[in-house]
Parts: sequence; structure tokens; C-alpha cells
Amino acid sequence: MMRERELKIRETARELLTKGTVDCVLGYEAGTIPLRARPVFISRPEDVDRLCWTGFCTGNLAKYLMGRKDKVAIVAQGCVSRNIVGLIQEGQVDRERIVVIGVPCLGMLDYRKIQARLPGKVIESVDEEGENILVKGPGFSQEIPRNFVKRDNCTTCMHRNPVIADILAADKVEETAGGNLDKVATPWESFDAAKKWDMFSQTFASCIRCYACRDVCPLCYCKVCFVDEASPQWCGKTLESADVATFHLLRAFHCAGRCTDCGACESVCPMQIKMRRLTSKIEKDIRDLYGYEPGMDVDAKPPMTVFQPDDPEDFIS
Ligand code: SF4
Ligand code: SF4
Ligand code: SF4
Repeated sequence: MMRERELKIRETARELLTKGTVDCVLGYEAGTIPLRARPVFISRPEDVDRLCWTGFCTGNLAKYLMGRKDKVAIVAQGCVSRNIVGLIQEGQVDRERIVVIGVPCLGMLDYRKIQARLPGKVIESVDEEGENILVKGPGFSQEIPRNFVKRDNCTTCMHRNPVIADILAADKVEETAGGNLDKVATPWESFDAAKKWDMFSQTFASCIRCYACRDVCPLCYCKVCFVDEASPQWCGKTLESADVATFHLLRAFHCAGRCTDCGACESVCPMQIKMRRLTSKIEKDIRDLYGYEPGMDVDAKPPMTVFQPDDPEDFIS
């Protein structure tokens, strides 16, 4: 399972670096504390054993392709491969310059869900080789069904296999995790405007504007983000609700037709803000209105980049 993928990633990285096919391999290595993995660039064959593949590889490596001029191999599961496709569509990444080590994905884990099941325990390791994960620490060892502690987005993922891959790190898996893709978005549609605003305000009330959600997202690559622009100042810098709302609403609309529901933004948020309440609704709208799923086809034109005479325009009244 995870170990098989990890070994194949390392073997592939070693071969690519030894032959000089790529200048570096972009993957994950274990974090400095349990339940974490962090991005790493490996450029020497002797370092490939640093590469890992665990349920904690929850960042989105596509982000790190931006601005690179060298030839890079990148480790990519379904959602990340779709973001790579998006960056190719947007002219930000050259397909000829990258090698995609595709990973058929079993879903990533939510470290907070694991910790919540073991209150007060110090977790030292997680073994992911069985149907259940095995969590260990001083004086305890506990099995937990993997599905109980997956990230929310991974329970409803529709595209777990990489869309583009030059090498696969394992056999393909069932394409969908089987959940209800619109579980988060659908409830919004039954709310009236006041309830929607109330729910939105509650969702983002504890945001501290650390911008981790923006910084981890492969869609956010503007040289100067609108929130950092000082002249003109598009968005106030305070934690007042109007400024916080402006940031989140504008960022969400910038992601329309591009977001792959990779979940990286929710995973990194230190305040555990459920920002998929916003991104999932926009993702559903794009699917319903334009029949478009981001990152599925390098040659497709994303709906926000083209105009059709019969585009829906009911919102103009
Ligand atoms: S969203 Fe899908 S492809 Fe991405 S990590 Fe989760 S299960 Fe894997
Ligand atoms: S990561 Fe969370 S707290 Fe930080 S800006 Fe984003 S939503 Fe706000
Ligand atoms: S908005 Fe969040 S879920 Fe969507 S692509 Fe960016 S990091 Fe991933």
C-alpha cells in the first residue's frame, strides 16, 4: 500500500537523477514531528531515501513548480496532477520540462481527527500498511479504520488516479472514494440569503489572516496578491469582518473553475476553518453551469477564460 508507493517513488527518483533525466525530484519527506510530511527537492541520487509517501502528504506540490527553469520530476496524486494540468493550461508550467511520478491515491489523513481519537496521548508513529492505520505511542498501540480519519475532501474525491503521469508508482485504484461530492455544497442551496451570510460569517469569524491557505494553494501565484497590494489598496488589512470576508470571497472567486478540491488550504489552516464551504459551492456551480471539472484535460479551455454567446447570465438582472 503506502510503502509500495514510497519504494517505487524512490526507485524512480534514483533512476531519473542517475541518468540525468531531471535536475531534481520534488516530493515529500517526513516532517520534524509525527503526523506531518513536508515538501522536499532531491537533487542527488544518494538522497532519494529521504522521499516518503504517507497519508500526511497533504500539501500541494504543484505550487513548487512555479518559476522553476530546471527539469523537475514531481510526485503527484489525482488532485495534484489536476493542478499541474491547470498550471499547464494557464501557461505557467511547461509539460516538456516536467516528469510526473503519478501516485494512485488512497486518500490523505487528517492528523486532527487522529489526535481527537486519542486525547492526551503522545503519538509517535502511524503505520499505514493495513486496512486500518496503527497508531503507536508510549504505552499504547491503537488501530483506527483509515476511512474514519481521512480528510473530508478525500472521502468525496472523484479522481484519485493521476490525470497525467509519465510513471505510475502503483496500480490504479478505484477512481472515486465513493462519497457524495456535493455533501458540503448542497446544504447552502437550501439557505436563504440571511442564513447564507450568517453561515459564511460564522465560518470565517476566527480567521487570523495568516494567509497559509493562500500560500499553500497552487492557484495563488500572482506576483503581488490583491491583499498585499498597497496602492491601490483593494482589501483592508484588519481582522474586521468586512476585510476578512473580502479576502475570502475574492480568493474563492479567483479559484473558480480552477480549484481541484485538493484540500491543502483546509489542511494547513491553524484555525481549522472549513473553507471548503466556499470552494466546494463554487466548484459545484462551475460543474453545474459549465459541465467543467478543473484539470481533467490539458487541451480544454477553462470556463472563466472563454466566452460563449449562450453562457448562463441569469445573475444579471
Ligand atoms: S483529493 Fe483525491 S487525489 Fe487528492 S489526496 Fe484526496 S483522495 Fe487523493
Ligand atoms: S489559513 Fe485559516 S486563519 Fe490563515 S488566512 Fe487562511 S482561513 Fe484564515
Ligand atoms: S483553493 Fe484549496 S482546495 Fe482549491 S486548489 Fe487551492 S488549496 Fe486546493
